[in-house]
Amino acid sequence: MIVCESLSDLRQARARLANPLGLVPTMGYLHQGHLSLVERARQECPCVAVSIFVNPSQFGPQEDLAAYPRDLPHDLAMLETAGVDLVWTPSPQVVYPTGYQTWVTVERVSSGLEGEQRPGHFRGVATIVTKLFHAFQPQRAYFGQKDAQQAVVIRRLASDLDFPVEVIICPTVRESDGLALSSRNAYLDPAERQAATVLYRALRAAEQAYASGERQAERLRQTMRHVLAQEPLAKVQYVSAADPDSLDEIHGAAEQVLLSIAVFIGKTRLIDNLVVGGE
Ligand code: AMP
Repeated sequence: MIVCESLSDLRQARARLANPLGLVPTMGYLHQGHLSLVERARQECPCVAVSIFVNPSQFGPQEDLAAYPRDLPHDLAMLETAGVDLVWTPSPQVVYPTGYQTWVTVERVSSGLEGEQRPGHFRGVATIVTKLFHAFQPQRAYFGQKDAQQAVVIRRLASDLDFPVEVIICPTVRESDGLALSSRNAYLDPAERQAATVLYRALRAAEQAYASGERQAERLRQTMRHVLAQEPLAKVQYVSAADPDSLDEIHGAAEQVLLSIAVFIGKTRLIDNLVVGGE
């Protein structure tokens, strides 16, 4: 496994890898969710590359950039075991050198949900993903459904900017009690960890309502709010039932729905989602 920090080293190493190359972008502190993307890439591509970069530009000024968990030696050991060919671990100065001033903005699909709560977040995401696509020249790139809006934004970005990259979205990996794996779960104390199961319970309650025939988006939102309200440690930021493609909030009835929620458990902000209907 080749590990490099500079862009020139990355480009040289990448040029020696066979195509199609599968890229898995991450912010590190890897868990089984990340590894599921690597494993999928491994199955579908002769060569697999991973980036580990805690991207400052996707964090707001009040967010957890400085505290974000990091463990590069452990991450590299996991990736080596997983059979990854190339890892890029750039410093912020490599990605955003002094004088940097170019940004990529995906408009409509970035505006609601996470984009509304985290102004500038998707500008940071779209910019880093653009830079990663240029640097690695992958034929395929793997992202998690865990970040549902990010998946929609990146699909749009790749299409709008004509990147010859197939964007592949992989299912959310969960703990046995339903909590979606996330590097931020490391912030939770034992009581908060228990309380955090409320996100998945709320989503499942709405999914069950849908399975019982409920199609009114507002009723699905109410079902989620009702479950979340029963957990004293949970402070709800948003509850959404939206169109999975446009991300527009649904008013009235719908067949396919992206159910998504953002909740503070103590100081830790968690998100999760499920898509119901369709197919
Ligand atoms: P992050 O390091 O949080 O930026 O995540 C890197 C990639 O892993 C993103 O595409 C995430 O959507 C994906 N990911 C994070 N958590 C999970 C999970 N529990 N299941 C599947 N994919 C995940």
